[in-house]
Amino acid sequence: MNVSVVLFTSDLRLHDHPPLRAALDGSRTVVPLFVRDRAVDRAGFAAPNRLAFLADCLRDLDAGLRERGGRLVYRAGDLVDEVCKVVTETDADEVHMAAGVSAHAQRREERLRDALEGDGRRLHVHDEVVTALAPGEVTPASSDHFAVFTPYFRRWAGHHQRQVLGAPRAVRVPPDIGSDRLPTRAELSGLSAGLATGGEREGRKRLTAWLRGGIHTYEDGHDDLAGDATSHLSPHLHFGTLSAVEVVHRARKAGGPGADAFVRQVAWRDFHHQVLAARPASSRKDLRTRDDLWRSSDSAAREIEDWKEGRTGYPVVDAAMRQLRHEGWMHNRGRLLTASFLAKTLYVDWRVGAEHFISLLVDGDIANNQLNWQWVAGTGTDSRPNRVLNPVVQGKRYDPEGAYVRRWVPELEGLGGAAVHEPWKLKGPERAAYDYPEPIVDLSEALARFKHARGKE
Ligand code: FAD
Repeated sequence: MNVSVVLFTSDLRLHDHPPLRAALDGSRTVVPLFVRDRAVDRAGFAAPNRLAFLADCLRDLDAGLRERGGRLVYRAGDLVDEVCKVVTETDADEVHMAAGVSAHAQRREERLRDALEGDGRRLHVHDEVVTALAPGEVTPASSDHFAVFTPYFRRWAGHHQRQVLGAPRAVRVPPDIGSDRLPTRAELSGLSAGLATGGEREGRKRLTAWLRGGIHTYEDGHDDLAGDATSHLSPHLHFGTLSAVEVVHRARKAGGPGADAFVRQVAWRDFHHQVLAARPASSRKDLRTRDDLWRSSDSAAREIEDWKEGRTGYPVVDAAMRQLRHEGWMHNRGRLLTASFLAKTLYVDWRVGAEHFISLLVDGDIANNQLNWQWVAGTGTDSRPNRVLNPVVQGKRYDPEGAYVRRWVPELEGLGGAAVHEPWKLKGPERAAYDYPEPIVDLSEALARFKHARGKE
């Protein structure tokens, strides 16, 4: 076979890349291609933070390919049309790509297969490129996917994992293929100031450092907001600059309780991906409706804005929302408690919050974001759908010294220890010294409203 196209999507790396390996094994030359899919942009996924990280990833991928004698071909437009154009220009016999899980990815794959096969060419879709275990690889007896994490994890952990593949030594690309200019981060505006750097090299450096250090304290430290002791690998897993298979494999090799707890979290990612693959509509629709009568975006407009801007008057909520804006990333505990605050305390539709997260998160991911939001809102896979996280209790438990709040809410810097979680308890002039809002909602009234709405009273 002469020419194969490797279509990169959420797998922007050279290490452990089954589609690239298959193409190199079967063809004389290979066209490494990335298409900026305009349909994804139109669906609201073209957030500046992710575009900047993506630009880093594409430039790094191109550099890695050039070191091996190749280069990246970059196009923008309708993905199927652009792939077909490249196939015709190079007279490629086949296209290799990773399987996707969203409704859009599934439809796009079908359209591409039809277009290629209609023209006598073939599409090879590879599993276990984006996730560690393919959706549908393990299933319960009575369904096409697991709806509960614990039994899923048991099967996931016991399942055989494919081998990790090395990066290719050489990539030969046919001459004279036109490419648009690769995007750069510098062209983008509206980026979070503390945004992480993208690219496979950066991802691999972070993974190695994590396996040498942080992973060993992960079991005890992962919920400590101020300690910030999680891996920060989520954007690399989202863009596929790290392979989930390789991350799991190397973490298991590192061993110990920290590694076990970390691998379990990575399995949550696979869990949500297999739910979305089986129920693509759950990116917008409740997986399990609770007949919620959410407050409308109009009636709760001011509270939604306060939540987004980090001025709810609940310090730990505000700290986490400001971290999101500043870094394009938020600690998992922060995501849990801010999402609970919006969906259950303010009783606002989870889709409003999910959309805001997607507009800022550098790891913003349709499976992980939408299904975690549903998990918190109680419309998804949580087996305790009516639990509500109290922001004061959460703050005192996961930021006992108040250091996380003081880092992100400098107005409260002068308040020592856990007192920072309840500034409203200060009296008179002492309270007046802090330019910080009063709580926008009374927690016990909010709890009563939620219980009533869910019919639990
Ligand atoms: P670590 O604690 O080091 O975990 C390692 C990896 O495991 C992560 O990088 C991630 O890929 C995976 N992981 C960890 N926790 C979860 C989880 N609960 N669900 C799925 N995968 C998990 N994660 C995203 O990658 N993208 C999102 O858009 C996203 N949105 C979220 C929205 C809400 C409301 C909530 C509650 C969680 C969301 N998460 C999302 C999951 C989780 O918060 C992040 O993956 C995690 O905080 C990333 O930091 P880390 O890489 O340091 O995680």
